[in-house]
Amino acid sequence: MWNGNVNNMDPLQNEQLQNLQRQLEQNREVVILIHHNPDGDALGSALALSMYLEQYGHSCEILSPNAFPDFLQWMPGIGKVHRADLEPEYCAEKVVKAGLIFCLDFNQSKRVQDLQIPLEKSKAFKALIDHHIAPEDQFDFVYSVTDETSSTCELVYQFIAHYRNDGDKITREMAECLYAGIMTDTGSFSYSCDNPSTHETAGKLIAMQINGERIHRNIYDTYSENRVRLLGFSLSERLHLLPEYATSYIYLTKEDLKRFNYRQGDTEGIVNYGLSMKPVRFTAFFSERDGRIRISFRSKGDFDVNEFARAHFNGGGHKNAAGGESFDTMEETIRRFLEALPKYPDKLCPLCAGAYAF
Ligand code: 5GP
Ligand code: MN
Repeated sequence: MWNGNVNNMDPLQNEQLQNLQRQLEQNREVVILIHHNPDGDALGSALALSMYLEQYGHSCEILSPNAFPDFLQWMPGIGKVHRADLEPEYCAEKVVKAGLIFCLDFNQSKRVQDLQIPLEKSKAFKALIDHHIAPEDQFDFVYSVTDETSSTCELVYQFIAHYRNDGDKITREMAECLYAGIMTDTGSFSYSCDNPSTHETAGKLIAMQINGERIHRNIYDTYSENRVRLLGFSLSERLHLLPEYATSYIYLTKEDLKRFNYRQGDTEGIVNYGLSMKPVRFTAFFSERDGRIRISFRSKGDFDVNEFARAHFNGGGHKNAAGGESFDTMEETIRRFLEALPKYPDKLCPLCAGAYAF
């Protein structure tokens, strides 16, 4: 159990931890909920937390709104995750009837899509562990750190090892899951990791004899031919540069995705190429899904894409990486995007201060 030794600067206070402990004592069954299109961080944190709680005799139901990418299928315990797109009633009932729900790696209920209404209806005690900006008001326990942390997996590590003083309960399988989440959310330790604690956490996980190189290969060197060709097509046919706004964007229509036999996760990472050119400070990636356009935003420096996503595309995230959505056509969505750019003249222009700082 955690040693109660928490100072006032901590994002988590004793009282909150005691409150959560009481809930854990009252609820043997725990529901763990992750966001739509779950990534390595969402799945890694959910799997590790479930393996931890199971050591205290809890049974955990991990619920995902939809499918997860093939390159995460190797994760220990992934077979026990239930998908709301395949078992809608089962998952909705678990959420509505739960006594205790952990919400991991998201902070707005709309991010669980079809489980949004069950989550809002549920009377469960809701515990949030997350690293996105501005959590909604509905959570009873909030462990939310947005700066100086890489990922929800890093926070789950801190929660277990620091706040509950249970570092010795972190098994190798848990360490693999947590390392995978930190690695994927930092783009293999290239962003959101300019703080010692992220590297210290990764170091502690590596010290548990996990094979970081193999985890990296499992995730980044297992693409299908179609996925690599879709990337090539995105860059040669669908990348647009707007030098006057130091901006670029890439879009993929439903037909494009079909042509390359799209599978969940195949577009992951494409957005980063839009930002990889020196003059570009802001990029967007639009991909057409059933009935909506999913958008990823990335930026360098002080252009805040969390604010941009919230203001124009009903989204959010972090300062330099955010997401949003649109229910307009692709053409209309891109038109709205282009119309928004001139609203940021002091941030998005080739000669703006700091434009070439990177
Ligand atoms: P991605 O572009 O990789 O889907 O998302 C970038 C970051 O923004 C991730 O941390 C993701 O969890 C977050 N994000 C994506 N969409 C949304 C959204 O609609 N709301 C919020 N708050 N965060 C989002
Ligand atoms: Mn994350």
